[in-house]
Amino acid sequence: MQDKLMLMIPGPTPVPEAALLALAKHPIGHRTSEFEQLMAEVTQNLKWLHQTESDVLMLTTSGTGAVEAGIINFLSPGDRILVGSNGKFGERWAEVGEAYSLQVERITAEWGQPLDPQKFAEKLESDKEKQIKAVVITHSETSTGVLNDLETINQHVKAHGEALIIVDAVTSLGAVNLPIDVWGLDVVASGSQKAYMIPPGLGFVAVGPKAWEAYKTAKLPRFYLDLGQYRKACAKNTTPFTPPVNLIVALATTLRMMRQEGLESLFARHHRLMNATRAGVKGLNLPLLTADSAASPAITAVAPDRVKADQIRTTMQKRFDISLAGGQDHLKGQIFRIGHLGFVSDRDILSCLASLEVVLQELGYEEFTPGAGVAAAARVFTES
Ligand SMILES: *Cc1c(COP(=O)(O)O)cnc(C)c1O
Repeated sequence: MQDKLMLMIPGPTPVPEAALLALAKHPIGHRTSEFEQLMAEVTQNLKWLHQTESDVLMLTTSGTGAVEAGIINFLSPGDRILVGSNGKFGERWAEVGEAYSLQVERITAEWGQPLDPQKFAEKLESDKEKQIKAVVITHSETSTGVLNDLETINQHVKAHGEALIIVDAVTSLGAVNLPIDVWGLDVVASGSQKAYMIPPGLGFVAVGPKAWEAYKTAKLPRFYLDLGQYRKACAKNTTPFTPPVNLIVALATTLRMMRQEGLESLFARHHRLMNATRAGVKGLNLPLLTADSAASPAITAVAPDRVKADQIRTTMQKRFDISLAGGQDHLKGQIFRIGHLGFVSDRDILSCLASLEVVLQELGYEEFTPGAGVAAAARVFTES
């Protein structure tokens, strides 16, 4: 049905009407006092969301551009880096490192499993000459729905003393507690089409003092993604190049919404959505890809063994206009993923699970008591 699309993919995520209306306004000039005022407000609210007093810079990129900027501004050719790779995104950062001639060492885990912090500890402790210059971690690995134990891995990085920690927080920022200053995270990157509740097109990079020190001597080539330029401009409430002004107007709107909700409620909501989704899927006797202990509050991956994952997805889309994500790389066709990130409420989860029940029945999967998925999710909602 026209205009009925319900996005339950991990980005782009649904956009609230207030933000859609903001997007529809005439663009304003980016060298005007009106834009400076907007930038001042947005920057202040970004710092609030990132729980940092340091810089949070905005780039006209998708999330990948933000993470790439977070890597290339602080390193030099040949630098040794450790990259956590337990999914599509972790692997991407290893490839970025290789594209820029860094000496990349992957710390891997099977897709669906979390990274083992002890493996990082061992590598970092044995590096007596302090040659490891950075550790790159994907906090919420969207391809599998795993939340990696960033806090513990970061403690090992801090014990090393030299290496920077660079975080892909694209589906964790705004969904799960990520206290940048308290934990002392050096670089944290994210993108607008995830928890920010606006369309794709803006990348965000938070940069701490230790990373700015490294910036001074870093020799990888940089121009459009040179964060020093963005920092200078940001201090004057502007941007070095033409920004997507309409997106920034919409961002001002959604950041105000987030402030209104408050950080704790924001995190509690995502946690509840995750718990309800997982309970519902279990109620339908469908296997989950990841264990409860490593589950991401942004997305849940389901690995059905008696129905085809892609058949579920196409039928959900056709019958109910609900868009679910598929698997990537070797998980293609093996899993489907339910996004519950950003502008998502309890009601959306109930609709999704109820629709999923109908689809499963239509596809001849009857390994559950009708109503069991919704009932299990409802229990989570009444108890929390
Ligand atoms: C969405 C996402 C990205 C960024 O992908 P883009 O398509 O470049 O926006 C990076 N990391 C994770 C974990 C993501 O979910």
